[in-house]
Amino acid sequence: MQVYISADMEGTAGVTGWVMTNPGEHDYELARRLMAAEVNAAIEGAFLGGATTVVVNDSHDGMRNLPLDQIDPRALVLSGSPKLGSMVEGLTDAFDLMFCTGYHAMAGSPSTLAHTYNLTVQQVEISGRKVGELGLNAYWAATFGVPVALVTGDDVLEAETEALLPWSRYAQVKEARGRYASLSRSAEAARAAIRQAAEMAVREHSAMKQLPPPENPELKIRFTNPGQAQTASICPGAERLDALTVRFGHSDYREVYRAFRTMVTLASGQS
Ligand SMILES: [Zn+2]
Repeated sequence: MQVYISADMEGTAGVTGWVMTNPGEHDYELARRLMAAEVNAAIEGAFLGGATTVVVNDSHDGMRNLPLDQIDPRALVLSGSPKLGSMVEGLTDAFDLMFCTGYHAMAGSPSTLAHTYNLTVQQVEISGRKVGELGLNAYWAATFGVPVALVTGDDVLEAETEALLPWSRYAQVKEARGRYASLSRSAEAARAAIRQAAEMAVREHSAMKQLPPPENPELKIRFTNPGQAQTASICPGAERLDALTVRFGHSDYREVYRAFRTMVTLASGQS
């Protein structure tokens, strides 16, 4: 039983601002410690549930957040960037389950620190369905036959998870009270909830389902300014629909995901 963990930071209990999630800012060291402890809770739960291998992909910002000397020694950690697969780098069909820890809901939602990859993106649709990082990554996992079995974050992401992945276990560690505010469980209580949900997710592995991407998936990204959409439309195969919106269609979802990453990376230079 091999478990892959995509570990983000914004959905960690007690994390409420970019001053905590940006390396070098004054509360970052606290936030990375809280993140690492929640990841450890997921690792511990996975092993309690029967996992034999756990690989953690550091999925936040520059992907150098998890201090290796604080991580459960049974796990392997993939860190650093750029990585071709970004938040889902290293996920293959060798894995049985994916966990998404410290996640946040999609751009435009009331989730604490909501965004989709970065702040250039207002909205993402795959074949008409609005998705955030969770949806984009769950579709990717399904192309390898891997279901998402555990998600952790705030109450807004919980609703997003229930709509998208109703079979998945969820550990709610905080309630969003604003873009930069949340009512958080204690670090200890959050870790206990994650440990228990992770253990149950592995025990219930046969009930977990994949989220297959739609056939011939069509990606639409609405950016926050026209310069971003214009730069994103340099991506081969992309088509600009209006001042803010760019579309890309392909029969292979992995190509769609790569186009998404390409366009967002291009757009990032146009603030
Ligand atoms: Zn993040």
